Amino acid sequence: MRSSTGFGRRSFLRTAALAPVAGSLEVLHAAAKPGAQPKNIVFMVADGMSPSVLPLADYFSRQVRGKGLLWRALMERDDVTHGLMDMASLDSATTDSSAASSSWGSGVRIFNGALNVLPDGTMLTPVATIAREQGRRVGLVTTTTVTHATPAGFAAADRSRGNEESIAEQYIKNVDVILGGGVRYFDGSSRKDKRDLIAQYKQAGFTYVANRAELLQCSQNGKAPAKLLGLFTRGMLPYTLDRRNNASLRESVPALAEMTSVALESLRHSPKGFLLQVEGGRVDHAAHNNDAAAQLWDQIAFDEAIETVLKFAEKNPETLIVITADHGNGNPAIGGNWARFRGESNGFRVLARAQCSFEELLAKLGRDKAAPAAIQEAVREALGIELTKDELDAVSASVGGKKGLSLNSRLDKPVGILGEAVGNHTGIGWVSTDHTSDYTLLTALGPGRERFAGYVRNTKCFENMVDFMGSRFRNPTMTREAARAFPRPAAEAVPHWV
Ligand SMILES: [Zn+2]
Repeated sequence: MRSSTGFGRRSFLRTAALAPVAGSLEVLHAAAKPGAQPKNIVFMVADGMSPSVLPLADYFSRQVRGKGLLWRALMERDDVTHGLMDMASLDSATTDSSAASSSWGSGVRIFNGALNVLPDGTMLTPVATIAREQGRRVGLVTTTTVTHATPAGFAAADRSRGNEESIAEQYIKNVDVILGGGVRYFDGSSRKDKRDLIAQYKQAGFTYVANRAELLQCSQNGKAPAKLLGLFTRGMLPYTLDRRNNASLRESVPALAEMTSVALESLRHSPKGFLLQVEGGRVDHAAHNNDAAAQLWDQIAFDEAIETVLKFAEKNPETLIVITADHGNGNPAIGGNWARFRGESNGFRVLARAQCSFEELLAKLGRDKAAPAAIQEAVREALGIELTKDELDAVSASVGGKKGLSLNSRLDKPVGILGEAVGNHTGIGWVSTDHTSDYTLLTALGPGRERFAGYVRNTKCFENMVDFMGSRFRNPTMTREAARAFPRPAAEAVPHWV
């Protein structure tokens, strides 16, 4: 309905929601005429984000930040392209992150657990190599180890995604900016071959930074190094929830948006443009743990990175932004099980009390980890929740190793049972502790965005990206029927976090 001034309520709300970046979208709209070619591509991945996470994170963001998600607000714009992505791999409707990222990175569906390698051993050429051949610079930014499946899918090839030491060696030839966790795969004292890769990267012209202060320092005055390696933890970066509540982590580890900002500052000097992948990787890990608070805080951190990229695109309108997820995980949702579905906001208030992730909570339990009193104390302190006796008994039994506590076998483990118990207080339930086959959300804006509309097969992203770079390159492919002649990687070869 329109007001007497002709200014509709709906358009007013839309303008208000997008006020911080309204200018950027106007500029992007002008630059994004059909058929336009982007100079820069920023490919953003919320790893393991089920489509149901978007509304949950939007509600939660309103609770804890007083404003909703920018990604959700973008969906109201008619100058933004919307799609759903079919992320199936060569051997399953449900992909792992390496087959998922490989489908984007080489344009080919492969077996879960492999990285840009066909079942017959054919090594595929990743998009980073093509980008470099076409004069573009390449960046990888993540909250996981930089050698983890999603960043690796754009720049490396290996029979197993688990060979992170090998993946760490490969980036030196085709990536310019590398920011995230995983020092252990570069450090001579922890690598099996004792090679000091950090020294090798420095010899190849990379500036190395090891904490947040060094990262921010190196990009002061708009002069970020052209080649930059930043590794801030031995393994994964901490969950945003844990970082928020730990002063030492806040000081040593940058936020995803901060790493994204420095990467853009470095890459923007590339005369022929760049390809940057930004991954909110621990959204997936929190979903594996059925840990709603940790997941939604990491989703908010990803949204802050989207805002950083949009601000960059305001000044650099030849930038295509693709925002998506690689697969669902656990499919959390609010179950309308309170009186007449009226309790949701209470649930988000409970969720907002969380001070640490399930991972940290369970790690803190120590020697009496299965004792009900110790669990109650830890849950009270970490989550601000008082479990009922039945909930406490079930969590305690599961932590003690008992099985059969849930009829859903995919939830029958300590984090699954804890997730069920906490869900009684927050209203959020889960279908499993693992990946799901859902189509993922896909949002694109800027020049070239129209090629990401509607139903999109994952492999199309590679074709779009190399076309935009002016290359006609395509990797060899294999059909599902032909692939049946080859053994699938052993299940134990796929790491716990997939
Ligand atoms: Zn996963």
